[in-house]
Amino acid sequence: MDFSDQVKSKTDIVEVIGEVTPLRKFGQTYKGVCPFHGGKIEALNVNSALQYFKCPSCGKGGDVIQFVMQVDKIPFEEAVTKLAARKGRTKPE
Ligand SMILES: [Zn+2]
Repeated sequence: MDFSDQVKSKTDIVEVIGEVTPLRKFGQTYKGVCPFHGGKIEALNVNSALQYFKCPSCGKGGDVIQFVMQVDKIPFEEAVTKLAARKGRTKPE
């Protein structure tokens, strides 16, 4: 398992997205206002079991790393580092 997969497995997508937009629980799915296209409707779907997000309105979707990349407009490596730092982890040299 490479470092990004380790970070992903230790990070809860619901927690990360919940810090950006408030999420409400509907069974295994969470819904919230999409931070990418805005609007008033809770179009964003976050699946806690699959650790996946999807917005059918603007088409954004992916895993927690892709979420951070898109919301912060940062490259993959930076998103991984940022998520790792949440848990006090740093990339091994
Ligand atoms: Zn959207």
